[in-house]
Order: sequence, then C-alpha cells, then structure tokens
Amino acid sequence: MPSAEGPQPTPRYKRALLKVSGEALMGDRAFGIDTGTVERIAREVVQVVGAGHQMCLVIGGGNIYRGLEGSARGMERASADYMGMLATVMNALAMQNALERLGTPTRVLSAIPMTSICEPYVRRRAIRHMEKGRVVIFAAGTGNPFFTTDTAAALRAAEMGCNALLKGTQVDGVYTADPKHDPKATRYERLTYRDVLNQDLKVMDASAISLARENQIPILVFSLHVDGGLAQVLSGTGRCTIIDEGE
Ligand code: UDP
Repeated sequence: MPSAEGPQPTPRYKRALLKVSGEALMGDRAFGIDTGTVERIAREVVQVVGAGHQMCLVIGGGNIYRGLEGSARGMERASADYMGMLATVMNALAMQNALERLGTPTRVLSAIPMTSICEPYVRRRAIRHMEKGRVVIFAAGTGNPFFTTDTAAALRAAEMGCNALLKGTQVDGVYTADPKHDPKATRYERLTYRDVLNQDLKVMDASAISLARENQIPILVFSLHVDGGLAQVLSGTGRCTIIDEGE
C-alpha cells in the first residue's frame, strides 16, 4: 500500500559518494580552507539530500598536507602520510560545520579513531546514518599510509553500496588534454574503466578506478563550479563524463 505521502520518486543514484579534493576547498587561496567555498559545496550537498539522495563524502587533504611532499623532504613516508590523513580530518570538520549551519545533520566517521571529535568508522553505523538522512563524511582516508583519498572514496563507495561515485573537479568532465592550457581539448561524454587505465587518464588513481570497476560503481566526473551541478548530475541531466564498463 502506498504511504500517506504517496510513492516516493526513485532517484537514479539513490545513494552516492562525493569525492572532493582538499584543493577544492582552497577557493582562491594558496593554502588551507576557504569558508565561503566550503559553504558553497555544502549547499550543493544539502540540495541533493533534500531531493531524497543519501549522501556520503570523502574530502582529500592536499590543501593542507600531502604525504609525498613530506617524504620528498626526507620524512619517513608512513609518518608523512599520517599527517596527510590528519589533514583530511580538519577538512571533514570544516565541511560538517558548514552542512550543519545549513541545517543538515552530519556525522564525521574517521578511519583513525579519535573519539573526542568524531565517530570511529563503523560500516553499519555509516549506512544507518545515511538511511536517517544524515550526511556522512569519511575522514582519515583508508587509515593506511601509502594510499590516497581517491582510493578511500572508491573503497567506501563499495562498502556503502553506493550507486555512483562522484568526482567533483575544476572542469565538467574528463578531457583529451588539460582544457585550461589546450584550447583544442575536448570532453569525453563516456569512458570505460579500461580506457582510463590503459590511457592513464588523470581522473583518479589506478587503484580507485580498479576498485570501482570490480564493484561496478559508475564514476561521474563533473564541475564543482556550476550552481546546482551536483543535483543535475545526480538526476542524469548535468554535464559530466560517465566512466563505467561500457556496452
Ligand atoms: N593519505 C593516506 N592514506 C589514505 C588517504 C590519504 O596516507 O588512505 C594521506 C596521503 O599522504 C595523502 C594525504 O593523506 O597525500 C592527503 O590525501 P590526498 O592526497 O588523497 O588528498 P587530495 O589530493 O584529494 O586533496
């Protein structure tokens, strides 16, 4: 029997994970977190949660610290990577704050337990939060050095049973060359996982692509600079490049 509210529309991508790099939070700054930019991205997320999507996020840490930079300066790679993971926790807290100021309950779940400031990552709990309409932000990457937050995003998307992995970038998809430097660059409408791996296209790192492929999760690459862009992409009308298994 239909509920009193009537049948709910089934969004194409009911549950999705949004991956945003740390650098996307810098806005016009050269380092760190630009509050206005975080709020703008938060508004996009609030809009789609309002439309009935279940949303989780992975935010990188490159605006604050990258393990590779530390190890290039002689630091032990694992320690430098832990610093990078801690940077992602800062970004997660900034995003949680922005989302909650907009009235959307949000939980940060960290792969490295730090129970005074956020919940430890527990898969079933994360799913439950989303079912209750809360946004879940996965912090501290995979919790392991030698990985990236791209891989963390693909891993969590698989664990959460997400219907899509959205990669928000500076441009509206994957191009044949960097469109900021090459005016002849054209955008791919659709690619296969194999295309991305074989041509070494700079979308996400290879382990993230492989994980998405094994779990049949389409990757949608879209621009973070379009108002309402996330909602359009999730409803199937936005400009993006879709990466999947192909025909
Ligand atoms: N990191 C890690 N393990 C993970 C995820 C991240 O060690 O599972 C570290 C790594 O040092 C990385 C840093 O955290 O450089 C920040 O993440 P990433 O470079 O993926 O951020 P983004 O480029 O997306 O801003």
